[in-house]
Amino acid sequence: MRIKKAEAFPLRYPEIIDNNNIRHIVLVRLETDTGIVGWGECVTIFRENAASVAALLRHGLLEVVQDRDPLENITLWQALRQRVWWYGDVGGIAAFAISAVDMALWDLKGKILNQPLYTLLGGKKHERLPACASIHPKGTTIDELAAEMASYIEAGYQLVKVGFGKKGTANLGFDAARDIAFARAVRAAMGPDAGFMIDVGARLRWDVPYAVRMARAFAEIGLYWLEDPFHPDNLRAYHHLRAAVPDLPIAFGERLFTLDAFHRILEADVCDIILVDAGRAEGITGVLQVVELAAQFNVKFNPHTYSSAVNTAAAIHLALCAERPSIFELMPLPSVMQVELATNPIRHVDGWVTAPDAPGLGVEVVEETVQKYLMEI
Ligand SMILES: [Mg+2]
Repeated sequence: MRIKKAEAFPLRYPEIIDNNNIRHIVLVRLETDTGIVGWGECVTIFRENAASVAALLRHGLLEVVQDRDPLENITLWQALRQRVWWYGDVGGIAAFAISAVDMALWDLKGKILNQPLYTLLGGKKHERLPACASIHPKGTTIDELAAEMASYIEAGYQLVKVGFGKKGTANLGFDAARDIAFARAVRAAMGPDAGFMIDVGARLRWDVPYAVRMARAFAEIGLYWLEDPFHPDNLRAYHHLRAAVPDLPIAFGERLFTLDAFHRILEADVCDIILVDAGRAEGITGVLQVVELAAQFNVKFNPHTYSSAVNTAAAIHLALCAERPSIFELMPLPSVMQVELATNPIRHVDGWVTAPDAPGLGVEVVEETVQKYLMEI
């Protein structure tokens, strides 16, 4: 069996979870000479990145898999990395392109062999993970915001994660006293048992004393983790923070691309949970290598996923097959790239998330939706 058609689709869409700001992904569609189709995604977010990744794929990278046997997917992943040696085997936009092709190859392989991805990955080590609602809250006052966070626990999620420094009226991450009051109000509204995480986010640039002050307050209310408090290159800041507040778990890694980069932060002992996105970190094949390494370091793995139903499906298979997964994040609002793109996006049932048993990733992509959100480049 050979891949006869390889295509890239850059999409632009309003993201309801992000106040309807426009976001972008690139989908890859691979079709065999027998008519079997596999889908993969990379989470480009920005227009220029989506356009560039689509160009890389259309003007060269997709040739690597054209007329090749999709069952040889690891060999093809290595060939893709070799192809980008001059411009991207240390990360960057080439890693996005490789991610989407690799994910589509795994989906295709599963459909050809009639096996779910978790079986191809060697089998599940866990049957289910606790569902976390990851949100950018819409309210303005502390009381409104805390009530909104608690409403997701009431709706069945076991944890909530809030993004700081986001657009909209919440205005979180800019005022230490208000942020600490917010965190205490959320804990009071949710009760003692629900999980609560804070993602500091790329817009904020906390220094070490500021981060220590915040982390001490967050540890007091039993925060489940604090995410990305510093720039990923600032490993010394992570060390200082962890030494000062050892009882607050740190999650880190969503902005890294390659196994080498993840190896560096694992060696540096700067986090308790490693965040890895299959739509960025060189696909399912790339993430598998990081998962293995993280297990050797006794660090938990959280599959970062905040884009389409294709990526979410890849993430749940990876997490359930990992030795030390943590929780599973879902968008609690009807994002079009979840509910319109797939007929059966991953959802939680009674606060738990499982992987689909259908072949490959196990989600059905709606091709009309791909055409509807297709971006002109
Ligand atoms: Mg994050």
